[in-house]
Amino acid sequence: MGKKKTISIVSVAAVIFCVMLIFYSAFLAKETGVEFFAMDTYIKVSAVGTDSAAACEKIQTLVNSLDTEMLSRQNENSEISVLNSNGGIMSEKMQEYILAMLGIYEKSNGAFDFALGSVSDLWGFGNNPHLPANSKIKSALEKSGADKLSISGNKISTNGAVIDFGASGKGIALDEIKELLGSMKIKNAVVSVGGSVLLYGKKNFTVGIRNPKGGSGSYIMTVSTPAACVSTSGSYEQYFEENGKNYHHILNPETGYPVDNGLVSVTVISDNGLASDALSTACFVLGIEDGMKLAEEYGCEIVFVDSRKKVTASDGIKDSLKITDSNYSFAE
Ligand code: AMP
Ligand code: MG
Repeated sequence: MGKKKTISIVSVAAVIFCVMLIFYSAFLAKETGVEFFAMDTYIKVSAVGTDSAAACEKIQTLVNSLDTEMLSRQNENSEISVLNSNGGIMSEKMQEYILAMLGIYEKSNGAFDFALGSVSDLWGFGNNPHLPANSKIKSALEKSGADKLSISGNKISTNGAVIDFGASGKGIALDEIKELLGSMKIKNAVVSVGGSVLLYGKKNFTVGIRNPKGGSGSYIMTVSTPAACVSTSGSYEQYFEENGKNYHHILNPETGYPVDNGLVSVTVISDNGLASDALSTACFVLGIEDGMKLAEEYGCEIVFVDSRKKVTASDGIKDSLKITDSNYSFAE
């Protein structure tokens, strides 16, 4: 009898303990979100965990300072503006970013060219989009390109070329945010910096790939993936029409004109933010065949969408990809 009573007291205690644990973990799994504008784009954070509120605040501070102090060409005092004007000593982080970008420049045979700043400035995306004179494009192109850079240890001279983080800065932000979250009590988080998204935590995430013809909330397919960085480069992101022709912001570094190869978007999934961002731009320029090879070299998954509404995906992601818009289908 006495033993039975003890067992039932123990089981009641166990039930109470479990209920308390459920309440406690519900309390722990606090979800907080924030939205703000930086790096010329909208940034949306959603985090779950004890430190979620603090993480939202710290992410804002981190992205703002990464942008204004290091990567922004609009701020003449940022590290990149100073280096673009006079060359000099790079900070450790800047050196790390530039070496990684140089690797992608070389492996993509110059398709990802992060020293094309004077050419993209001519197109005026962001403030005054227009078709520049061909002579201007030609002369800006002659002075541009990552092959103009002289780098020795932490010293850099740009020799007139203009380094631009337009195609990689958002991915760099994801890497820095991931490192920050790693030092905090965060169970999972989703952070989108324009077309680049950080999926953080030990669970499976489902992300939508945007409808090139729809608004920012309209998707043509979903991808299910564990934690990763997912970046999309799309010709629909920044474009204008002149004389009945459409001009977008992803440039062919050989011509200085927008890439015209039938692609409308390229999405790259990687565990590295800089790689996902830079490779989505590079593979957009390279096209399906060479882009697929480059993504494989970096161990990334990739999804191409073309203007015929055909979807081509790398083998590793095909099974986790669901086309939700019946106008689109897999390429044969
Ligand atoms: P994304 O949206 O990441 O593909 O980046 C596009 C932005 O990168 C443009 O707005 C330009 O500032 C810059 N850009 C354009 N073409 C290239 C290119 N071929 N390589 C590197 N950066 C580029
Ligand atoms: Mg990019």
